[in-house]
Amino acid sequence: MKRYIDDFSSKLNRISFKTLEESKNSIYCLSEELDLIYVNPAWVNFAKENGASIQFLKELPIGKHIANTFSGESIKKFYTENYLKVLKTGKPWRNEYECSSKDEFRKFNQNTYPIKGGNGLIIINTLTINSSMKIIGRKAIKVVDQRYVNSDGFVTQCSNCRCTQRVNEPDIWDWVPEWVKETPENFSHSICTICFDYYWKN
Ligand SMILES: [Zn+2]
Repeated sequence: MKRYIDDFSSKLNRISFKTLEESKNSIYCLSEELDLIYVNPAWVNFAKENGASIQFLKELPIGKHIANTFSGESIKKFYTENYLKVLKTGKPWRNEYECSSKDEFRKFNQNTYPIKGGNGLIIINTLTINSSMKIIGRKAIKVVDQRYVNSDGFVTQCSNCRCTQRVNEPDIWDWVPEWVKETPENFSHSICTICFDYYWKN
């Protein structure tokens, strides 16, 4: 598995490579062109724990533009614009997002810093809320194919909260834990209206 580009540590200048490697927070770095140039071991562990395939981990998109890793045009635009703004202004940027599993509600804080005296960005993801889904009380709905599988055979999941969109009532997104544990065979990612309004609307 290749986690970083060959000359990565030369881009860091005053930041220690060892610190990034040993951090418990999942961290990734971007070049000035917003290409993914580094992920740390904690990032890989988190991906593994959340069902990333061996194939995905073997072929991490190192050297590829970060926009390729986000689903949905509005999300791509949101992150690209904000990352470019940090590069341009040199001011750190903070945002939050949800990344839950079947049984756990998890919220993350993301801090983006320009690499001091170097080239590119460091993005640090910190777990801020980790609570049982039972306590959150998100109502679990069982898989009903007719309700969620569209005429092309695809299921649409919110890439933030991972709720599933109904086909005939597209404004309703249900929590279907079975599909969080195991992603449906044919699925596409989108962002549900609540997540979009809460996390990304300017
Ligand atoms: Zn959502």
